[in-house]
Amino acid sequence: MTAQLIDGNALSARLRADVASRAAALKARGVVPGLAVVLVGENPASQVYVRNKVKACNDNGLHSVLEKHPAELSEAALLARVEALNADPAIHGILVQLPLPAHIDAQKVIEAIAPAKDVDGFHVASAGALMTGSSGFWPCTPYGCMKMLESIGYDLRGKHAVVIGRSNIVGKPMALMLLAKNATVTICHSATPDLGAFTRQADVVVAAVGKRNVLTADMVKPGAVVIDVGMNRNDEGKLCGDVDFAGVREVAGWITPVPGGVGPMTITMLLVNTLEAAERAAAASAT
Ligand code: NAP
Repeated sequence: MTAQLIDGNALSARLRADVASRAAALKARGVVPGLAVVLVGENPASQVYVRNKVKACNDNGLHSVLEKHPAELSEAALLARVEALNADPAIHGILVQLPLPAHIDAQKVIEAIAPAKDVDGFHVASAGALMTGSSGFWPCTPYGCMKMLESIGYDLRGKHAVVIGRSNIVGKPMALMLLAKNATVTICHSATPDLGAFTRQADVVVAAVGKRNVLTADMVKPGAVVIDVGMNRNDEGKLCGDVDFAGVREVAGWITPVPGGVGPMTITMLLVNTLEAAERAAAASAT
């Protein structure tokens, strides 16, 4: 069996078109959805990420502001910038690009973002909302994975989902989202003995580790859905995921490629969250 691809580029294009039309509708009511992207320092990967986020906003009718600060910016000065953005009515979403320089407490900065503008979904209030099933912003990468499952009409009820990785930004929120859709969820991590014993039982595997070939064909149940969040470089320097794509696609039923899978979905869900923040703000000011 050769797995069907879940194409993150194609799905993103559809979702971004919807964002653009909803943004146009808001604009007609005098509200332009605005995202502030804050970058501290010169990290080359971060510079690429923020450029892509700003471009995606501009291409889809959202207003974006890119604030670049030198690596020496103090924590107090960054917190003051976040406060100013919290108070700015033209800004509906705030994203502070991680990692931050070592002298800045990243969690403290994230907690300073108003939860109503936390479009990355990293604030404890957002994490709490996800855990309790109340309204908040979901972290973009696992949210994008859920959209990919939805796009193939996959019903998670009663299915066994195995998440490999337990970070606050991918693994843990992913597990909670799968649980909310009535999957039976197992979370594996670096201390899990015999990872394959778990993944072989899984109807859905989400790999969010950051190591090549964490998931190989012998570890996958025939027909399973495999979502590859990992972003690594292979020996030729090319982008690859955590999954041995060539091997696993011969066993799985569905698989996401890298590149062109989860990556574009992450930025797309940032646009969706920003638009949602603007729609909520517009609704609140109309009442
Ligand atoms: P992270 O914070 O480093 O977490 C990695 C997780 O993998 C940890 O929970 C770790 O376990 C676990 N792990 C490490 N080695 C393992 C092993 N051999 N077997 C099982 N679990 C193992 O990374 P992250 O931020 O979640 O990101 C994960 C990957 O996704 C990275 O490649 C990152 O670049 C990529 N990513 C991609 C996107 C995208 O848009 N495509 C977005 C975000 C992240 P412990 O907790 O025990 O250490």
